[in-house]
Amino acid sequence: MSIGDCAEPLTRPAFTVVVDAGHGGRDGGAYSFVVGRVEKEATLAIAKRVARKLGSNKQIVVIMTRDDDRYLSLIARQRIIKSCEPNLVVSIHADSGPPAARGAAVFLLNEQGQAIVVDRLMSRTQDSTDDELSFILADIQQRQSINYVVPIASRIQLAIGSRVGRGGVPRSANLALLKVPGTPSLLIECGFVSNEFDAIDLFTPEGQDRIAGAISAPILDAARRSMPKS
Ligand SMILES: [Zn+2]
Repeated sequence: MSIGDCAEPLTRPAFTVVVDAGHGGRDGGAYSFVVGRVEKEATLAIAKRVARKLGSNKQIVVIMTRDDDRYLSLIARQRIIKSCEPNLVVSIHADSGPPAARGAAVFLLNEQGQAIVVDRLMSRTQDSTDDELSFILADIQQRQSINYVVPIASRIQLAIGSRVGRGGVPRSANLALLKVPGTPSLLIECGFVSNEFDAIDLFTPEGQDRIAGAISAPILDAARRSMPKS
């Protein structure tokens, strides 16, 4: 695993994943009044666990945008992503909202920069009555780079659990990270720091490990399928 950029040119076929821990340093992200902790702590802890789990497969090259408590601008994060030309970017965040709102949400971005809420996408694929959504879906299916990431996103959403009490699209600054053209990218809001149950998951090692497992298992499967047998 490397941090901050691709240390060496890849000489063998590899599945490359950039794991981005949201926020850091003076940018704490959302504050949890429930546990008195900040989002940046949870994102880093979860990202490190995701990186470690992915790195257990030697054919996966993992790059973290940060592995300590440092500030990184969106431009710095995008520079790392561009330098690595990854197969996948996974950006880890947590949300805040009313106390009852809880659960995770997975977002992917199409080439126009529209955020697509993955659980909405999943429920509509069988029953496509929503015109706007079928348009977006058709558009996704034309784009190989994005199409490829849809099943990974759906499986992460299923494993991590759905959102209760509030839908919506994450803050635009988070999504700006994903706007690296041609790079399949997921933004995962792992839960609400403002909810007493989610906060336990987000800020304890057991919860962080469960979340990291839900994120990494579908990626490990996808990498395994896309790599030549050795
Ligand atoms: Zn965030």
